[in-house]
Amino acid sequence: MNILVVNAGSSSIKYQLIDMTTKLPLSSGIVERIGLEKGVIIHKTFLNGEEIKIKETFPIPNHAVGLERVAELLTDKEIGVITDPSEIKAVGHRLVHGGEAFTKTVVITNEVKAKVKELFPLAPLHNPANLTGVEVAEQVFPNATQIGVFDTAFHQTMPEVAYRYAIPKTLYNEMGIRKYGFHGTSHKYVSEKAIEYLGKQDAKVITIHLGNGASMAAVDGGVCIDTTMGLGPLCGLIMGTRSGDIDPSIIFYLVEQKGYSIEKVSNILNKESGMEGLTGDTDMRDVEDRFHKGDAEAVLAYKMYAYRIKQYIGNYAAAMNGLDAIVFTAGIGENDTVARKLVCDNMDYLGIELDEEKNNIRSKNIREINRANARTKVLVIPTNEELEIARQAFELIK
Ligand code: ADP
Repeated sequence: MNILVVNAGSSSIKYQLIDMTTKLPLSSGIVERIGLEKGVIIHKTFLNGEEIKIKETFPIPNHAVGLERVAELLTDKEIGVITDPSEIKAVGHRLVHGGEAFTKTVVITNEVKAKVKELFPLAPLHNPANLTGVEVAEQVFPNATQIGVFDTAFHQTMPEVAYRYAIPKTLYNEMGIRKYGFHGTSHKYVSEKAIEYLGKQDAKVITIHLGNGASMAAVDGGVCIDTTMGLGPLCGLIMGTRSGDIDPSIIFYLVEQKGYSIEKVSNILNKESGMEGLTGDTDMRDVEDRFHKGDAEAVLAYKMYAYRIKQYIGNYAAAMNGLDAIVFTAGIGENDTVARKLVCDNMDYLGIELDEEKNNIRSKNIREINRANARTKVLVIPTNEELEIARQAFELIK
């Protein structure tokens, strides 16, 4: 059975067609620059161990035009991987904000769509685009069941003591202001893999997702009990361009002293902070190059980046009263040996002892990079959010 995974943004659609027998993608790609003068589709097919990549540039005025072209490419006589769109049994949509309404993956009905719309204020950039993706997929793949997988769902098990903010209770009761957390699909996927690897159902695991956006989760016996992102994705760890945790006074100080608008401050904290703000480079590979050359800004930024993660490891070990494993995942977590080393340095009190040789090995497999006798496992587990979305969709329709 084939499941199409769709991640629709305001001007892009990322997609992957996954064969659920092999759990491998038959095809993947991205439609970009939707609504601009020239749109782009980069489409890849994987057949018989061979990758074919094509790039098309043409005006893509809206998401519907983009997804219709994707359907044509998937069924193309020469490079197509299926013969008819009806071979796609389900479309799994990444939906960013499910608020308190969605604790698990759902079949998308009119009621679900109405609820996602109600949640627009909580995710004004993501939810409207996600919903457009759903509506367009309903037109292009009318025979498929549309399924919604929420970024926030895995974190809905957090206890109130973790998700409430100490602000007037009416703000929670009337507006739903609380911690929700994101990257749930990734935290769920890698924590389940970790539990399987450890062979211990009640394992206490800290998952550390380090991509352009970054977050951590405390997962106790498979259940998320805390996470670093909150109402939105700005808090917690230092990221590519986001500040992570700061003293909220900074916002008022900027507004009062500089006369900045809320929009300007939001832009500073979301787009001009993090590694970008500290070093002028957003991509961790560039910061890493400078780190190796001894560049003072890059060294400080890396140390700050790692220090924040260390602090949350301590925080979550305390919250769970124990720790069996920490798991590194996503672009930086899976590849960046320096970040992993700086995080694990001087953490033997918590049983974390890195084996530097193992840390330096490059691989796409699940691996253990702690010293043989270390009390706490240090694991690198490649995430696969698309497969997890497809897997959850498959469970609902099989
Ligand atoms: P997202 O899905 O959030 O866009 P990714 O999980 O793809 O992000 O991670 C992107 C980050 O991973 C970038 O900062 C990139 O520099 C970093 N990254 C990817 N490969 C490497 C590598 N080999 N070494 C260090 N960092 C890497």
